[in-house]
Amino acid sequence: MNRKTFLKTLSLLPLTATAMKLNVLNTLTEPFGTTEKMPVLFLGHGSPMNAIEENEFSKGWKTAGATLPKPNAILCVSAHWETRGTFVTAMEKPPTIHDFGGFPKALFDVQYPAPGSPELANEVKTTVSKTEIGLDDKWGLDHGAWSVIKHLYPNADVPVIQLSLDYSQPAQYHYDLAKQLSSLRKKGVLIIGSGNMVHNLGMVAWDRLNETGYAYDWAAEASEKMKKYILTNDHQQLINFKSQGNAFDLAIPTPEHYLPLLYTLALKEENEKVNLFNDKAMAGSLTMTSLKIS
Ligand code: ZN
Repeated sequence: MNRKTFLKTLSLLPLTATAMKLNVLNTLTEPFGTTEKMPVLFLGHGSPMNAIEENEFSKGWKTAGATLPKPNAILCVSAHWETRGTFVTAMEKPPTIHDFGGFPKALFDVQYPAPGSPELANEVKTTVSKTEIGLDDKWGLDHGAWSVIKHLYPNADVPVIQLSLDYSQPAQYHYDLAKQLSSLRKKGVLIIGSGNMVHNLGMVAWDRLNETGYAYDWAAEASEKMKKYILTNDHQQLINFKSQGNAFDLAIPTPEHYLPLLYTLALKEENEKVNLFNDKAMAGSLTMTSLKIS
């Protein structure tokens, strides 16, 4: 029985069943009732192969996952869903999207059958006043979401929705929009930004592809500066990433992998700490640095 039929059936119950009816309704709305404040994550996702490999990064995500209270639902801002306007996925069963090419069949075979949450999609739409959030029924879970969430919740038993990145908007817009999601943290919603702080695929050192820890000088410089701004709460410098000089220009040739970081940082409250993990470079021009804010 789906939710609609269920509610309809409830409304047909005789008045004497009112108490029970209310109880059941409470259970239905409980997923977004008040909870302890959920942590916020930024996950550097790197290669889609991390979805199926047991390596230090997937281990790092698993370890981070084990420290989290089990969320009622996940809201993921992935680098791989860019739209004009801002949307949330609102379908009951989001399909697993294999939005890449040239990888082994084993990666295309991965399914991550986490349910969606039309309720949370509506909650996001109601909560955000900065812009009109559109409800999407065509996207699903792209690899920016499932390749990492799969390691946090391998049983796919936590509902997941995605929030798109409006490519027509500046960094400040994304930061301000993210701030409006803050109340969801107390409704058991785990908010995850998924991208890479340093991400220049055009400059990948193909001959040192699997060499963990190898960074070009500019990548190391940008990464150090980003971490300094993160750890000193100087978010404005990170929002103004286009004015940070050559190292940042090379680290962020296009903003989609960087912007999810701003969503995560915008949700940090004054008394909270930032823990860095998976803080390593890959292939010269990528960093896997991830954050847990709690
Ligand atoms: Zn990516």
